[in-house]
Amino acid sequence: ITFKEMKFPHIILKALKKRGIEKPTPIQMQGIPVVLMGRDMIGIAFTGSGKTLVFALPIIMFCLEQEKRLPFVKNEGPYGLIVCPSRELAKQTTEIINFFSRHLVEDGYPALKCLMCIGGMAIKEQLDMIKQGVHIIVATPGRLMDMLEKKMVNLDICRYLCLDEADRMIDMGFEEDVRTIFSYFKGQRQTLLFSATMPKKIQNFARSALVKPVTVNV
Ligand code: AMP
Repeated sequence: ITFKEMKFPHIILKALKKRGIEKPTPIQMQGIPVVLMGRDMIGIAFTGSGKTLVFALPIIMFCLEQEKRLPFVKNEGPYGLIVCPSRELAKQTTEIINFFSRHLVEDGYPALKCLMCIGGMAIKEQLDMIKQGVHIIVATPGRLMDMLEKKMVNLDICRYLCLDEADRMIDMGFEEDVRTIFSYFKGQRQTLLFSATMPKKIQNFARSALVKPVTVNV
């Protein structure tokens, strides 16, 4: 299956090409259709497999759909949340989402706002952006927890959650934080979990957090 057959807008295909991406990697071929279908998914994949696009492209499509149905107002969002173990990973993911957003805007699509919430950044700026409304938040667990507890972020209408490098997050001792983050979700949610390894601990965690997940192992 090609990116074109995944029904991404032409401008996304063009943007992919700009990054030298023409043919999906195995996890993209198997994973993207599952995510676009709305299923929960466990992706067993390491850095370099192309896993980022498996959650980034569908989250963008999901936000565009939402925009079409109900253009978004101030103080709303996020629709989608991506949680990663490190600031570095959060930065890379935010960069990729913003890259596609810029191309979409140039092609006349609504501007998708993606906010990075990581430790070490000024909270005030992040709060100002949240007040304007954001479609997507990419966060590390510590900072996100802090913002949720202070009611700076509201996940009432968030319907899409991705945990990237879940094994690293658990290893770093973020399991409790991640569970608490889950508790802030209301209503239905699509959950994706990516992990390079699948020890018992992650399996149990996934079982409690995901609904009938499809496992993609490449
Ligand atoms: P990731 O595993 O998502 O961190 O991606 C690792 C690297 O592979 C990044 O530099 C991507 O730009 C690149 N990449 C992702 N998907 C593809 C693809 N389908 N073809 C070629 N390169 C890709």
